[in-house]
Parts: sequence; structure tokens; C-alpha cells
Amino acid sequence: MIATNGLVDFHCHLDLYPDHQAAVRESEEAGVFTLAVTTTPKAWPRNHELAQATQHVRAALGLHPQLVAERASELALWDAHFVETRYIGEVGLDAGPRFYKSFDLQKQVFKHVLQHCAKAGDKVITVHSIRAAKAVLDYIEAYLPPAKGKVVLHWFTGSKAEAMRALEMGCYFSINAAMLDNERHSSMVAAIPLDRLLTETDGPFTKTAERPSKPADVAVVVEALGRLHSMSTSELAATVRSNLRSLLEPNDECR
Ligand code: MN
Repeated sequence: MIATNGLVDFHCHLDLYPDHQAAVRESEEAGVFTLAVTTTPKAWPRNHELAQATQHVRAALGLHPQLVAERASELALWDAHFVETRYIGEVGLDAGPRFYKSFDLQKQVFKHVLQHCAKAGDKVITVHSIRAAKAVLDYIEAYLPPAKGKVVLHWFTGSKAEAMRALEMGCYFSINAAMLDNERHSSMVAAIPLDRLLTETDGPFTKTAERPSKPADVAVVVEALGRLHSMSTSELAATVRSNLRSLLEPNDECR
């Protein structure tokens, strides 16, 4: 296993591990730049508080599409916390069979999120798009002009053509190990230019060695992406770090 210092886990649910505080500490000690996404606005204050005391962890304000059916009423709370962060997520759309019944409500929430981000400018958003790649891209195109915010598509499983459309819209992609285990998805990942790649674990929802992945396990993704691009692990890690820097550069048009 490679050194973890300076790796990037741009989508991890640190508050869903048995010990949230220990998970944050572990990320910090591993030196992994970690975006701690949240699934409900109620989870924001504690995530924000713990992340603020670190060099490497940042918290994102989310309302997960799979929870919209029960939690749409927390949208006012999401609005209330919105000014406290540049990072937004997990948000997006999920048209899988278990969540399709809330798809219209999910669209209303996602539209609201994108419109708020566009109005504020300069937000960085990690977006879920299970079975909804086209709708997600349609909504981003309609409600968030590229100069008004940056989108990172998390665990994107759309087609290669949809990935190309997302690239034209300026989106980044955060790639996890499960995506690279799947032949169709890994060929889509191989078509993404190096300068739009980020890495993620989506822990604890993915597994590494039969246990829930943690941010340091993003090393596995870095190694796999290196193989995919015939690059050394350290070159690939440096590329992702540089992409993170570009992603986080303030957008001039938003100042
Ligand atoms: Mn997630």
C-alpha cells in the first residue's frame, strides 16, 4: 500500500462510521484530503464543527436524494446553513426502483439546490446520479451555469456519451474502486481526461478487504487509475492533487 499523505477522498460519509470523531481524526492523521458529505442538513453542524478543527477534512451540506421522501421538510434547514459552506452534497437524483416514487420531489429539491448555488456562486457540489445521469445533466445545464459553480459527479455510472456531455459542461468525476471493477464503467472512466479526475471512497458504502472503506483506502483507487493510464501511482496522485487545486480555485466571474 502506498503512502496516503496528500491523497484525495472527495466523497466520504465520515459521520456514518461507528465513531464519527475517530473517523475524522483518522483522515487527518492519514493526510487524506477528505470531503465529508452529509445526507441530511441536521447532520451539518457536527460535521462542520469536527472538520473545522482539521487541515485535511472539509464538510459538505447535503440532502441525499434517497432521503428526500422523508426529509424534504429539512430543506429550510439546508437553506439556513447554506451560507456557512462552500461545499454542497450529497445532493442529486436517484431513479432506482426504491426511490423512483419520490423522483418528482427529488427534482424539486435538486432544482432548489442548484438555483441557490447559482445565485450564491462559487460553490463546489458533489452530485449523486444513480439511474438518472440524463436528468441530472439536464438539471445542471438548466439551473447552474458553469461560471456559477463547480460540479463533481460522484460514482457516475452513465454512458460514455453522457460522460462526454458532462465534460463539455465542465464537470469533474470522483472515481471509486467499485467503478473500476465493472468493465462497462471502467471503459467510461478510461475516456475521462486526466485533468477531470478526482478520487473517492464513498465509505462506508464501499468495501476494502471485506470491511467498510475508509479515506486512506482511496490509495487502491489511485493505484488502479494509475494502471488504467499507464502512470505511476505517485504521478497519478499528483495529478489528482493538482485537479483538486484547480477545482477549488475561486471562480473569477463569481467574485
Ligand atoms: Mn455517498
